[in-house]
Amino acid sequence: MEKLEKAIARIKEAMPNLQLLENESMAAHCSFKIGGPVRALAIPSDVSSLSKICYFLKEQQLAPYILGNGTNILFPDEGLKDLFIISTAKLTKIFLLPDGAIYAEAGVSLAKLAGFAQQHELSGLEFASGIPGTVGGGLIMNAGAYGGELKDTVESVVLYYLPEQRLYELTNEQCSFGYRSSLFQKMGGCVLLSAVFRLEKGDGEEIAAKMRQLNQQRRDKQPLDLPSAGSAFKRPEGNYAAALIDRAGLKGYTVGGAQVSEKHAGFVVNTGNASSHDVHQLMRYVRKKVYENSGIALEPEMIILPPDYCLEDKGPAVPLHGISPAGMEPDMQPEKGTGRG
Ligand SMILES: Cc1cc2nc3c(=O)[nH]c(=O)nc-3n(C[C@H](O)[C@H](O)[C@H](O)COP(=O)(O)OP(=O)(O)OC[C@H]3O[C@@H](n4cnc5c(N)ncnc54)[C@H](O)[C@@H]3O)c2cc1C
Repeated sequence: MEKLEKAIARIKEAMPNLQLLENESMAAHCSFKIGGPVRALAIPSDVSSLSKICYFLKEQQLAPYILGNGTNILFPDEGLKDLFIISTAKLTKIFLLPDGAIYAEAGVSLAKLAGFAQQHELSGLEFASGIPGTVGGGLIMNAGAYGGELKDTVESVVLYYLPEQRLYELTNEQCSFGYRSSLFQKMGGCVLLSAVFRLEKGDGEEIAAKMRQLNQQRRDKQPLDLPSAGSAFKRPEGNYAAALIDRAGLKGYTVGGAQVSEKHAGFVVNTGNASSHDVHQLMRYVRKKVYENSGIALEPEMIILPPDYCLEDKGPAVPLHGISPAGMEPDMQPEKGTGRG
């Protein structure tokens, strides 16, 4: 794609110190260990660099795909030759605010966030300590476990809105969190940069004990020894995907290297050399059989990217209704002498 090649050339020229991996295998950047090469994967070390990359892409009417820890994504075997991915792996600042809330950047792992809260005797994030994602990916998905969800703890979110190239600060209510969903999924164009978490004061030892207990429960029940993207399907209303799959007799069902976990029927695992095609075929079969058996149509929980996935800038911005910009602009204009114009 010509526009993408132009943008990559501009980024390389203007940002020589940026970590930019070209034609990088995505199998190395996701928990499923599946996926062919992406045209470009940038790992900026701060928000300012991230916004500069977005600026250069927008010049070519393109938008980046944002990667957290890659624990909820299935990448295609064929690769993504028309895609530019930005990883938030290096946006890892975390600190306590003067009023006792926690500020965390998008790339902070949920395990680190929960551990930080425990160290400061703050309770409410124990459920998140075993979820292998990041703050950014967790908020997009409204990650949850054992009765807790991130929406119960987040006070506000700062995001970079690609169509307007502007920062917004949203309150919890404005994020429209639902079961494994958020405004950001519906809107598109939102790069989550950081969030503030408001927690209750608790007892450090009790918080640590709760985290140990929940993580033991995870180890006992989930196939953590094999690559996966977590729960393959969303929980249908009033039911459990794993129970429905189990009842349809599909535990252990295998297509190529992909398998319905024998330990937990809600997980599809990579037994060693699974392709994305194996996973697709397996998930299609599971949906069909569960539907025949129970009349319930399962919806995938993981994000499934097709090989022709590319993010073209869609022209005029859709305003974030009723939400005002944060009043601070990122340093996104390239400095003089960096190859612009
Ligand atoms: C073993 C295992 C156990 C799991 N257990 C749970 C569980 O108990 N509960 C649960 O809810 N989930 C669970 N998951 C799934 C997954 O960890 C969560 O959905 C997690 O929140 C995804 O975070 P991530 O950083 O890996 O996001 P990614 O997988 O990298 O991305 C997920 C989505 O978020 C987007 N995204 C990521 N970061 C940003 C950002 N900064 N700005 C904009 N968009 C962004 C991506 O584009 C993508 O659409 C599990 C996964 C595994 C492998």
